[in-house]
Amino acid sequence: MELIDTHCHLTFEELAGDIEAIIERSRVAGVTGWITVGTDTQQNRKVIELAERHENMYAAIGIHPHDAKNVTAGTITELKKLAQNEKVVAIGETGLDFHYDFSPRQDQRRAFAQQLKIATELGLPVIIHCREAFDETMEILERFGRGVKSAVFHCFSGSADQAKIVLDHGFYISFTGVVTFKNAEGVREAAKIVPLAKLMLETDCPYMSPEPMRRQKINEPALMLHTAKCLAELKEMDLADFAEVVTATSKAFFGLPEK
Ligand SMILES: [Zn+2]
Ligand SMILES: [Zn+2]
Repeated sequence: MELIDTHCHLTFEELAGDIEAIIERSRVAGVTGWITVGTDTQQNRKVIELAERHENMYAAIGIHPHDAKNVTAGTITELKKLAQNEKVVAIGETGLDFHYDFSPRQDQRRAFAQQLKIATELGLPVIIHCREAFDETMEILERFGRGVKSAVFHCFSGSADQAKIVLDHGFYISFTGVVTFKNAEGVREAAKIVPLAKLMLETDCPYMSPEPMRRQKINEPALMLHTAKCLAELKEMDLADFAEVVTATSKAFFGLPEK
């Protein structure tokens, strides 16, 4: 089996110090590819450097909505320059987070639109972080994202109705361990309507450990196996068959080599 963790933060300090052992445990669990995601300029440099040192590891670079308040013209210029590295396969994570509001909303909107522009110019897909800002995220995508190659709503925790809107726009949906949580019946209902050609898996580690490992405070790619099992069951499929299709979807979305 060959699964891809399409959204992990392997350069965050909870994971970075033990990275080789974490990658080995991931391989043993069948999670053999990784998209490691940057959230600010410093992390963007780190994810590229880590991906350059590992086979089957790729980088996504962007400015997280939490960090949008620090974005200057220089930030955007550097992001665009870094994005031309051959290991960079997506722009993100970017989007809106009106739950925490760590950055003023106007800064979040501006940084999101700027990153959609870069993704369009470079022909890269976009990883979207959307928390308690669904309608406005869709609005900004409609205004500034018409030319983007594609987009994925990561760590999807919305309803089936919202999933349908995302799918109607031709976008993708990615699930974390949240789908395994006992109180996440709504997310499982959403997962049921997402066709496998639009569905991807991720850990968002070091956060979001899946059941039955939710007590493990620091999540890691190996644990994505539990999320994969949960979703395969929802789809009434063998795990191996489910993994094969979802991995093909992920490779197509990020433009990764077939083999
Ligand atoms: Zn996120
Ligand atoms: Zn993330």
